[in-house]
Amino acid sequence: MAKILDGRIAAAEVRSEVALEVAGLKERGVPVRLDVILVGDDPASVTYVASKERDSQEVGIESRVHRFSADVSQEELDGLVGRLNAERAVSGFFIQLPLPKGLDSMSLISSITSAKDVDGLSPESAGRLSVGLPSLLPCTPHGVIQLLKRNGIELSGREAVIVGRSNLVGKPLAQLLLRENATVTVCHSRTRELSAVTRRADMLIVAAGKREMVGAEYVGEGAVVVDVGIHRKEEGGLVGDVRFDEVEPMAAWISPVPGGVGPMTRAMLLHDTVMAARMGPGS
Ligand code: NDP
Repeated sequence: MAKILDGRIAAAEVRSEVALEVAGLKERGVPVRLDVILVGDDPASVTYVASKERDSQEVGIESRVHRFSADVSQEELDGLVGRLNAERAVSGFFIQLPLPKGLDSMSLISSITSAKDVDGLSPESAGRLSVGLPSLLPCTPHGVIQLLKRNGIELSGREAVIVGRSNLVGKPLAQLLLRENATVTVCHSRTRELSAVTRRADMLIVAAGKREMVGAEYVGEGAVVVDVGIHRKEEGGLVGDVRFDEVEPMAAWISPVPGGVGPMTRAMLLHDTVMAARMGPGS
């Protein structure tokens, strides 16, 4: 029976460390503020932003949401990004994705200054990560690394296989695992004999966005399995990319959905905001 990589416990640890740091920064007069740009009324985006605001308040981070209707112009958003880049009181900010059709999210993200890019998704942040310069990190891959490390899982020298190569999860996770001295293989939809590759993994991280795709045939005995996928079930509740009940008996460790990577993603956003505040002009 696998041990559980409990994201709720690890995220609570991160949040209490962040709360202490926020209190320390505030005592020194350093502002800690997270701003969000929210465009349109996509229900999932509205819910995510509300939970990020709640998380911020819980640890003492001031939060502001800049709301726009879906027909806002690119120029108006460009202008706001410029102002938030310059505003000393703002430690960091991000654009809630996806943006409505007609808006160019990559152009907006590219203009976020790397010192405030708490989502770590700008080309500059990605480049800094890949050449080993200090940078703010994308929250989900950073959350995966923290979930593993906080459970005492050794990464150095071990074989990590990632399923998925998105800019949001797979690629930055590969960089972070390399930084931890893992041997990394990145798989995608064109990978041949996927299950033969994934069965080699000491650590299998699945971010394919395909509901319950990965079953026992993809997993080697004693592997550590991290499920990044999130899918809403028709009957309510969440499920991941991994068939938990089938994989759990053969894995050494497994992250559940819900309660695995999701809470870590939220916690790492707070962590990055404090990092940005520490590096910012007010510190
Ligand atoms: P994307 O759709 O951007 O990327 C999916 C990746 O998986 C692609 O690289 C794709 O390959 C690959 N893939 C798809 N199908 C297969 C397959 N059958 N075999 C092998 N590879 C495959 O997704 P994201 O990276 O944005 O997200 C992945 C999942 O993680 C989603 O379920 C998402 O909801 C979830 N997520 C969860 C978060 C959390 O906090 N827990 C945060 C962010 C995302 P190719 O490039 O060839 O198309």
